[in-house]
Amino acid sequence: MLVHICCAVDSHYFLQKLRDRFPDEKLTGYFYDPNIHPYSEYRLRLLDVQRSCRMLGIDLVEGEYDYEGWLEAVRGLENEPEKGARCDFCFDNRLESTAQKAQELGERRITTTLLTSPKKSIEQLNEAGRMMQRKYGVEFVTVDFRQKGGTQEQFAMAKEEKLYHQDYCGCLYALRMQRDQQQRLADELFSPISAQIQPESIEDRIALYERRMQLEEEGVKYRIIREKFLNYRLLRGFVKRSGEVIPSWILPYSTLKRKFTKFRIVEKVEDLYYANREDIVIITLDYYNQLLDKNYKKIEDIVKAPPTFEEEMQARSKIIYNFMSLTPVIVLENIDENAPHQLSLEAHIYEDVREHLATLG
Ligand code: SF4
Repeated sequence: MLVHICCAVDSHYFLQKLRDRFPDEKLTGYFYDPNIHPYSEYRLRLLDVQRSCRMLGIDLVEGEYDYEGWLEAVRGLENEPEKGARCDFCFDNRLESTAQKAQELGERRITTTLLTSPKKSIEQLNEAGRMMQRKYGVEFVTVDFRQKGGTQEQFAMAKEEKLYHQDYCGCLYALRMQRDQQQRLADELFSPISAQIQPESIEDRIALYERRMQLEEEGVKYRIIREKFLNYRLLRGFVKRSGEVIPSWILPYSTLKRKFTKFRIVEKVEDLYYANREDIVIITLDYYNQLLDKNYKKIEDIVKAPPTFEEEMQARSKIIYNFMSLTPVIVLENIDENAPHQLSLEAHIYEDVREHLATLG
């Protein structure tokens, strides 16, 4: 049987129940989810499914990530609610690909782990499954493992096995609607201009889950610890000097009261230049290099090969006395103490939770 897989939290439980129900059937997983946005989230979910299938001894096939095709097909359905017409297409699309893959692999039966997802309509999934059965001649197997405490058992198992528990269905539109309702920043949709990994970004989680797999391979015991913290995202920022945009780099946790200010450099104390507005601190690229033990020749080099977020926070703590400070700290290639400057800076500070690994023993 070819089992379409949406995520590890659903598949880990579903596959074990399915194996109990069909003990003579060889199960193969099929991860086909072009609906998942952004791509890093797709990779994170796939990574966790790979781990789960390895634990269960189930072969896994990865389908194509045809995200553009998926987006094109749901054009006009962007504002549909969950369980609406966009989800109809989304189920049809994923089950159609599963049926085609089953034909290719010579499998006679298909099913989907979406059937165990508490927020999905089983009737809507059965409808899609029956349609593929008629169209491709593969049997659609429908099961309901949610009943009699199944969902609670599933979540307990996910917790026990430290599976990645995503908090949105998958697509861009559901994510946006959910974050709007929660009045939360959809930080999953941000990518920094440099490749610097932002705290509690999807890339940050991928690094954590990859490290976890490494620890498991080495047989090292670990715990995943969750900590509340104040997160930061720079949404936009640039400096103008005498009306022209100049190369600049903004350190994390830099904020402005408003999104824009004019300033002049009025004082220099050792390596720090102070502006007459908003307590802005300017440092040269040379001093930045010195603080971080780097050798950037131009600001552009930072964008291409940025230091880690943690390195920058350490550098910031050497510049600003108060470690909870939100003072803007800007790096410029050169300083002109006579010219008028303008700073545009839009940043978001918000409560968040970050996971980290603690090894035991
Ligand atoms: S809400 Fe979920 S099922 Fe519906 S279209 Fe988006 S990803 Fe697909």
